[in-house]
Amino acid sequence: MEISISKREIFRSKCNPFNEGVHCIAYLDRDISELIPYINAELGADTYIQEPPTVTFKIYGKLLTIHPDKIAINALKDKEEAEKIINWILKEINRIYKEKDQITPCYEQLPKPQLFQILKYLPKTNCQKCGYPTCMVFASLIAEGIKTPDECTELSEPQKKALNQYLSSFKFLNIDL
Ligand code: SF4
Repeated sequence: MEISISKREIFRSKCNPFNEGVHCIAYLDRDISELIPYINAELGADTYIQEPPTVTFKIYGKLLTIHPDKIAINALKDKEEAEKIINWILKEINRIYKEKDQITPCYEQLPKPQLFQILKYLPKTNCQKCGYPTCMVFASLIAEGIKTPDECTELSEPQKKALNQYLSSFKFLNIDL
């Protein structure tokens, strides 16, 4: 039976009620402690904690944490964004749950691409043709797996190939929102 959400709470920060953003906590219908190392292996968490098993991801500047019994996301724009991210991560959790027998669990934090290493390959002209204010911002989105080198129109083919080669050894979230 698929893992589902038993209750969702979407609320403004109690510490800063004037903050426009919302936080979301989605309670799972069961304990998924055993599945968390599989989620880590498949999605390459930014942080992996063994006890209690917890993984954290950075997505568009927000932190998404999967606990054994709930998913928490901070700094969301609104309820609609909260729903989209929760539905996407729940789909991923259920995919991993189904494919568990073919996945080798990972009990440690996987290496992540280094922002300054990615930046080394980019032209560093801050031309904004990718739609972002600086190459540094674009590099941070590549590091999170949100953008790919193809979206920098100024990148030469040899540099693109070298950057793709560097990125090929890391796990990225395949975010489909
Ligand atoms: S298109 Fe490329 S060179 Fe221009 S700002 Fe974006 S990342 Fe930098």
